Amino acid sequence: MTPTKITMNTAGQLQVPDYCYIPFIEGDGIGPDVWRASKAVMDAAISHCYKGKRKIEWVEMLAGEKAFNQTGSWLPAETLQMAKDYLVSIKGPLTTPVGGGIRSLNVALRQELDLYVCMRPVHWFQGVPSPVRHPENVDMVIFRENTEDIYAGIEFNYDDPKAKLLYEFLEVNNLANKVRFPETTSFGIKPVSKEGSQRLIRSAIQYAIDKKLPSVTLVHKGNIMKFTEGGFKNWGYELAETEFADAVYTWGQWEKTKKEQDEAAANKEMKQALSSGKVLIKDVIADNFLQQILLAPKDYSVIATLNLNGDYISDALAAAVGGIGIAPGANINYTTGHAVFEATHGTAPKFANTDTMNPSSLLLSGVMMLQYIGWNRTANTILEALKTTIKRKRVTVDFYNLMHDATLLKTSEFAQEIIKSLDNAPISELID
Ligand code: NAD
Repeated sequence: MTPTKITMNTAGQLQVPDYCYIPFIEGDGIGPDVWRASKAVMDAAISHCYKGKRKIEWVEMLAGEKAFNQTGSWLPAETLQMAKDYLVSIKGPLTTPVGGGIRSLNVALRQELDLYVCMRPVHWFQGVPSPVRHPENVDMVIFRENTEDIYAGIEFNYDDPKAKLLYEFLEVNNLANKVRFPETTSFGIKPVSKEGSQRLIRSAIQYAIDKKLPSVTLVHKGNIMKFTEGGFKNWGYELAETEFADAVYTWGQWEKTKKEQDEAAANKEMKQALSSGKVLIKDVIADNFLQQILLAPKDYSVIATLNLNGDYISDALAAAVGGIGIAPGANINYTTGHAVFEATHGTAPKFANTDTMNPSSLLLSGVMMLQYIGWNRTANTILEALKTTIKRKRVTVDFYNLMHDATLLKTSEFAQEIIKSLDNAPISELID
């Protein structure tokens, strides 16, 4: 077999050869340790499931400190070109360069490839230490908008003449009185568009339909920011009721029926729709949502939200199921097929080359990648083996410190333990 690239056909479907190239960035700090461990598990699981009929040829892309030391550039043009050409890639954490140039390598990659969905599944694995009483009730997938809102990065420092120009614009529009301290006010601009909101929400609804999940919740701050956050909510409902009319039931429909008939009729209609498999589309204001994830997490499944809300929500939910050592992530453009799967934690430089950190975040991002390319059998087999290893309390230091009677393993030993568990993990019945 010779390896070939993953491509997308004209119908928008990924074409994944049995022996495919996948580029990786090992990352800085603890990146090489967690990447080595994750790659070892993925390779072993692929070989375990497909007995040589399928394989990944990993190709290294340079980024971060390693790239800077070798090429003088934090994010070489060849790396961006490779990420574009090969469609699907995976990366460890990268140092954020201090001062000048690129604000963040991750943000640059997301912007350059227009990866508009930041997807974060939040699921608890039995035995993982958690600060909440019922972490098993948390089972959500966050779709965070990845290109607008604060990620647009439009800000003007108070002493920048452009801040003065903005202030003048406010004066002309009789809004200057809203700025209490004009001399020292910095400004930020929050762009939110209909297309940007709808492509994100479309992906979230389609995901819920494909995975037969019960609801999509639009989380927003539209009570205060009517046109940006409120726009996100309204455009979301509009999209649901037009493009997905046959597959969803919205709170708006419930309200309409209640108004035209009565509450009992609306409840009956909703119950019927949901029992026939329709996805419920609802919305919650962001601050309330942060309460709800502690009080009633079972009520939420797929979450669609703008960039800043998504940032807070992702970390709060990750904490509920065991923290950043185990939280995976993906950045996806479903239209072009481009996707970068990544560990959600940083480079933890203090622990670089100690072989002590938890590789689960990157490994689970790899599982998401395998699901994305349709190798579900391997993805599920890794999940089962990881669950077994955690249940046996054979874990890295972050979990070890919070568990009773656990066995402390190094990063590499934890990977070997998962590989050993592959033999006992049932090869998933899923047809790839
Ligand atoms: P960090 O996530 O690197 O580390 C914070 C702490 O979390 C660590 O000290 C460690 O105790 C714990 N931790 C992190 N990863 C872990 C793992 N896999 N297993 C167990 N424990 C783990 O955050 P930071 O110290 O704020 O950032 C360090 C650097 O990483 C900065 O340069 C930052 O910009 C960068 N960063 C990169 C990414 C990314 O590439 N996606 C994300 C966040 C931060």
